[in-house]
Amino acid sequence: MSNCDVSGKLILKVAAPVPLERIFDYLPPQDCDGRSLRPGSRVLVPFGNRRQVGVLLAVAADSEVAVERLKPAIAVLDQTPLLAETDLKLLHWAARYYHHPLGEVMAAAFPVALRQGKPAVLDLPYGYGLSPAGRETDLQALSRAPKQQALLQRLQAGVLPEADLADCRPALKALLDKGLAERRELPPSAAAAVAEPALAANAEQQAAIAGVVAGLGRFSVSLLEGVTGSGKTEVYMQIIASVLAQGKQVLVLLPEISLTPQLEQRFRRRFAVAMVATHSKLTDSQRLQAWLSMQQGRAAIMLGTRSALFTPLQRPGLIILDEEHDSSFKQQEGFRFSARDVAVARAKMLNIPVLLGSATPSLESLANGADGRYRLLHLPNRAGTAVAPSFQLLDIRNKRLQSGLSEPLLAEIRAALDDGQQVLLFLNRRGYAPVQICHGCGWVSRCRRCDANLVIHAGERLLRCHHCGAEHPLIKLCPACGTGELQALGLGTERIEQTLAELFPERNLVRLDKDTTQRKGALEGYLEQIHAGRAEIILGTQMLAKGHHFPGVTLVAILDIDSGLFSIDFHGAERLAQLIVQVAGRAGRAERPGRVILQTRQPQHPLLNTLLRQGYRAFADSALQERRQAGLPPFSHQALLRAQAGGSDAPRRFLQAVCAAIAELGAGSTQVLGPVAAPMARRAGAYRYQLLLQSPRRKDLHRLLDALLPRFYQLPEAKKVRWSLDVDPLDL
Ligand code: ADP
Ligand code: ZN
Ligand code: ZN
Repeated sequence: MSNCDVSGKLILKVAAPVPLERIFDYLPPQDCDGRSLRPGSRVLVPFGNRRQVGVLLAVAADSEVAVERLKPAIAVLDQTPLLAETDLKLLHWAARYYHHPLGEVMAAAFPVALRQGKPAVLDLPYGYGLSPAGRETDLQALSRAPKQQALLQRLQAGVLPEADLADCRPALKALLDKGLAERRELPPSAAAAVAEPALAANAEQQAAIAGVVAGLGRFSVSLLEGVTGSGKTEVYMQIIASVLAQGKQVLVLLPEISLTPQLEQRFRRRFAVAMVATHSKLTDSQRLQAWLSMQQGRAAIMLGTRSALFTPLQRPGLIILDEEHDSSFKQQEGFRFSARDVAVARAKMLNIPVLLGSATPSLESLANGADGRYRLLHLPNRAGTAVAPSFQLLDIRNKRLQSGLSEPLLAEIRAALDDGQQVLLFLNRRGYAPVQICHGCGWVSRCRRCDANLVIHAGERLLRCHHCGAEHPLIKLCPACGTGELQALGLGTERIEQTLAELFPERNLVRLDKDTTQRKGALEGYLEQIHAGRAEIILGTQMLAKGHHFPGVTLVAILDIDSGLFSIDFHGAERLAQLIVQVAGRAGRAERPGRVILQTRQPQHPLLNTLLRQGYRAFADSALQERRQAGLPPFSHQALLRAQAGGSDAPRRFLQAVCAAIAELGAGSTQVLGPVAAPMARRAGAYRYQLLLQSPRRKDLHRLLDALLPRFYQLPEAKKVRWSLDVDPLDL
C-alpha cells in the first residue's frame, strides 16, 4: 500500500451493474494512489462472492459505511477515463428519468467487451518511421548495405504503412535492430479514399440543409418529414459534410443497419473520413474497436443502432436519427429507454443539434413540431423524376380468394409481370399459417406455456410458438379426438410463397422474412437478386418496410390489413399507418410510377380513407386530435409497471400492494389503471399482470415514481415476482 491512506478515507463511489438502486463504496485497490483516480474509469470490484466491472463515479472523502467494513477494489481497469463528465451526466439523467438502477444504465453505455473488463485498447493502423537516431544518420554511413540505405531514404519522407514494407523486411529488421527505425502509429488520414461528390440539392433539400447547418454548434431539434425517396439521406449527407468540415463527429442512429447494407455503402462512398458501423451482427471485438475509435476521436462518423447512442464522442457535432418513428428505437427489456428521447436529451447537454428524419414521423414528434419545440423541415416531393405512388383499396368482401389473393389482384400481378415489372407483396405474418385446427372437433394447437397458438412452419415440418420459441413436430391426426384431420387456418408468407409458386411457376420469387434471412449473407444475396432484376416477385414481412430501395418495383400489394385495424393498443392505428406508407414507399422509385393495392373487407374504414386520400399528415393530425380528446400520450404521460411469476397470485398481490402504497403517498394528478392481466396473460410459463400510471403532467408522474420506487425494494410482495417499470411505454 503506497500512498493509500485508509484513515484519510479515500472512498471510491462505484456504480455496479446490479439491479439495485444504489451506489457502492470501496477503498482504492491495494497498490494504487486513490488520488490519481478519475470518474468515468472502470473498476473491478468484489461483489458478494463474485466480481463486477463497475464505473467509478467519484472519489470522495467519506462513506456512510464504517471504513473498516469497506473492501478494497480489485483493480482500476482504465488509466484514463472512458466516460467523460458529459457522458456520466447523461447516464445519471437517464437513470433518473427511466427510474432504472444507475449501474445497469452505465453498463448499457459500454460494448460487451468493456463490460467484461477487457482492456480498452484501440488497434491502430501502424507503420514504421525513423527514430531520432535514424534521422541524424547520414545515408553514406549505410553505403555497404544498399537495401538498408534505400529503406532509410524512403523513410526520410515519412512514416510508411506496414503493408508497404512487405518487400524489404530484412532491411527493416536491420534498421530496427540498429535503433534507426521504430514502429509508429499511422496518422488517421492514411485510410482515406476518394469521396464521391454531393448531388445538386433541390430547393426543398437546400432549405432543410441550410436550416440545420445554420444552427450547428447549438442545441436544436429538427424534424425532417420527407416522403420515401424525397432525398432525406442526401440531406443528411450534406449536413454531415458541414459538420465534418468543422472537425466534429457525427452519430447516425438507424433502426436496423444490418437490414440496410446499402445505406452504409452510400455513406462510405461519400465521405473520405474514417467511419465505423456498429450493430448486433458484428463480433464483440469489432464493436469495441468501433466504440473506441469514436471515443478517441479517430473516426468521424458512426452508424449504429439504438445502443450506439451512448458512445462517447470526443468532438460531438451532430446526432441524426433516421426513421425516427421506428419502434426498434425503444428498448423493450432491461433498461427500457427510447433512443430518440435520450438523443434529444444528450444533444441538449452537449449543446449540439439533433436531426430526426422520417416519411412517417411519430405522433410525439409531430406534436412537438406543432407546438414549436422542434423545427419542422419538409420534403414533400420525391427527388429526381420519380412520382408518388397511387393507392387503391380493393374490396374483397364476397370475393373468391386463393390463399388470400383475390382474382382482381392476381390479374394485376399477372399484367405487371407480363409487362416485365417487379411486384412486391406484403404480409405481416411469417410461417405457413398462424393456426392449426382439427376439422373433426375444432381442437386448436396451443402453446403449453403461452396464451398463443402455435404457428405452422411447413418447410421445417414443425409447429412453433412465436413468443417462447417452443417447437413441436407437425402431426396429421388430431390428438384430442384421434380421428379428425388437422388443417392449416389463415395465412403466412410461407403459404403465399407456395401458392404463388403454383400460380406463376416460371417466375423467380424471393421471400424476405426472419425465417429466410437467418443465414449470414442470405439477406444480402436476396437484395442483390432484387436489384439485379432477377427477382420478379418479392414477398415479405415488415422487413420490407425498412429503408430498402427497390427501384424496379411498380406494383405493391398489401394482402391483409384488416387484422391491424382492430388493435387493442392505442398505438395500433399509428403503427399500421406507418407500415402502409413505408411499404408503399418501396414502389415506383425510378421512371415508372408505382401503384399500391390494399386488400380489405373494411373499405369504408375512416383511418384507411384519411390515410389514402389525404396522406400521412392528415391521418396524423386526426389521430392526434383523438389522442388529445382521450387524454392519451403525447397529451399525457405514462409509466407501465409489469410483474410476472409462476402463478397468477403473486403478480396481482404485488401490484395491489403498489396501489396501496400509491394511495398512502397520494396519487395527485396521476391516474392508476389496474392491476389487470397483460394482453398476453401467460407467456413462456409466466403469469403477467400490469398497472398503468398516467398523468397529464410529466412532473407529477415522475415525482410519484421517485417516491414510490424506493418502497418497491421493501415490499415483501416484490420478492415473489419479477417486476419492471417502463416509462413512456410503447407496448401496452
Ligand atoms: P430518402 O432517404 O428520403 O428515401 P434518398 O436520399 O435515398 O431518399 O433519395 C432517393 C433517390 O433520389 C436516391 O436515388 C437519390 O440518389 C436520389 N436523389 C436524392 N436527392 C437528389 C437530388 N437532389 N437530385 C437528384 N437525385 C436525388
Ligand atoms: Zn379433433
Ligand atoms: Zn409459447
